Amino acid sequence: MVRSLQDKLARLDPARRARIEAEANRLHTECRAPILDSTITCPHCGHSQNETMPTDACQWFYECKGCGTLLKPKPGDCCVFCSYGTVPCPPIQAHKGCCS
Ligand SMILES: [Zn+2]
Repeated sequence: MVRSLQDKLARLDPARRARIEAEANRLHTECRAPILDSTITCPHCGHSQNETMPTDACQWFYECKGCGTLLKPKPGDCCVFCSYGTVPCPPIQAHKGCCS
């Protein structure tokens, strides 16, 4: 008879169980955490700038730090990071995370 992981955890002493569960949660969170740093390259002047993406919203507009041009997403892209950044935005990443 094979016991489930939950049964095994239930038989451990509470302190050890809490540690194991906390570790499992931590690993799971790291695994799903999106990359928030993206380098945006301006299509007009070629200037590259490291930016941190917001996790809760898509950014539609981005002002180039080099030439001041207001960048907008390309048709079909959801935000400027998907169009001009090195990393797609967090909501996009969430759909192809390693845990899904
Ligand atoms: Zn520029």
